[in-house]
Amino acid sequence: MYWDREAETMDRGKLESIQVERLRETLRRARKSPYYGKLFRDAGIEPEQVNSVDMIKAIPFTTKDDLQAHWPYGFLAVMKDEVIRMHASSGTTGRSIVVFHTASDIAGWTDVLARSIYMAGMRKDDVFQNMMSYGLFTGGLGFHYAAEKVGALVIPAGAGNSKRQIQLMRDFETTVIHIIPSYAIHLFTVFGELKVDPKKDTKLKMAFIGAEPHSEKMRKKIEEFYGIKAYNSYGLSEMNGPGVSFECPAQSGMHIWEDHYVVEVIDPKTLTPVPDGEEGELVLTTLMREGMPVLRYRTKDLTRIIPGQCECGRTHRRIDRIKGRTDDMMILKGVNIFPLQIEKKLMEIPGVGTNFVIILEREGNEDSMVVKVEVQKEYFAGDLKQLENLRKRIVEELRSDILITPKVSLIEPGGLRSTEGKAVRVIDNRKE
Ligand code: ADP
Ligand code: ZN
Repeated sequence: MYWDREAETMDRGKLESIQVERLRETLRRARKSPYYGKLFRDAGIEPEQVNSVDMIKAIPFTTKDDLQAHWPYGFLAVMKDEVIRMHASSGTTGRSIVVFHTASDIAGWTDVLARSIYMAGMRKDDVFQNMMSYGLFTGGLGFHYAAEKVGALVIPAGAGNSKRQIQLMRDFETTVIHIIPSYAIHLFTVFGELKVDPKKDTKLKMAFIGAEPHSEKMRKKIEEFYGIKAYNSYGLSEMNGPGVSFECPAQSGMHIWEDHYVVEVIDPKTLTPVPDGEEGELVLTTLMREGMPVLRYRTKDLTRIIPGQCECGRTHRRIDRIKGRTDDMMILKGVNIFPLQIEKKLMEIPGVGTNFVIILEREGNEDSMVVKVEVQKEYFAGDLKQLENLRKRIVEELRSDILITPKVSLIEPGGLRSTEGKAVRVIDNRKE
């Protein structure tokens, strides 16, 4: 049941001593990059003196802006001929950033992601369909090599082309898929059009869902529709990609692999640590990377450490599902709102579909919010009064939660643009 029992279940004392050793080595390597070389000289940081993980706090945070400002080679800590691959973030926010990997980096990443998917239950006899983009995005190649390492039959389907995806699933009896949650939901309609019932007509048993925030309700919808278990997978290009943190069969938070990363959670305003259990911004340091170590990286992702031991016996701590990014928080009439909050509320209302988009407008000095959401087909076929009642109910439910009265418009299933990549949840038309 363990990919690497020793690494996954070692006691905290041992884990910490490994972290200190790897941190020292990471800092020695980082010092060779132009960016950290200068930073260490200016701040008087001596890798050799590091004898506790806590000493990491002496190092300034690294941000996405730093990575962009020193694009492309400012963080490279090895000779260019040591690099065997590069990836870039999908650029959800701002310009993309680039990450370079040596052969050992790729091996380390592949192993920790193999550990993750094995933990969730993937085995050699599985057929794995990777429905993620195979470009610079890490979800394609990252998962591809990890699944091969586990020994599964890998179908490198790539993103999009929904009908063909379903055909592949049936022809080759796919048992495990890797898919963006909003795309998994989008496929509901396509299965319907093809009159294919994933529960009866496929051999699917498991999905890895990640790359974008989603609620517990959304997971449940996916699990019910496909008749599978769906495991949350978290990662970001700056930290390799997927394999940073992953759910075990207990589905009670994602183990974050502390032999590969130092984990901190900070208050994004004061930049001071928050206690376990409290929400804050996740800050990560690579411990296994030689090509491009990244130290105290501010992920902008909001989560919390889940206190206590997991029933599965793994000693690596767990983080809660990502609530959103500090930069996707909307401020409307002084109220802070996250897209996930809206999603959660919408999912609780019967008849409401899973696709939605939030549009922010400004007229004069007045901000307003429009929520467009798909609802079940029956509502459009029947009594229009029923449709109007549903609309009113959605307005009411949202208002009680976010304290703002949104305009709500109801859309037929499949009517909202659904890309094969990460879902666009917010369109802010307030900016000039
Ligand atoms: P970009 O920052 O351009 O989107 P990445 O493709 O590296 O580039 O995406 C990483 C980001 O995706 C994370 O920082 C996080 O915001 C989001 N993300 C990844 N996995 C999850 C997940 N399981 N739940 C919520 N958000 C996720
Ligand atoms: Zn566990």
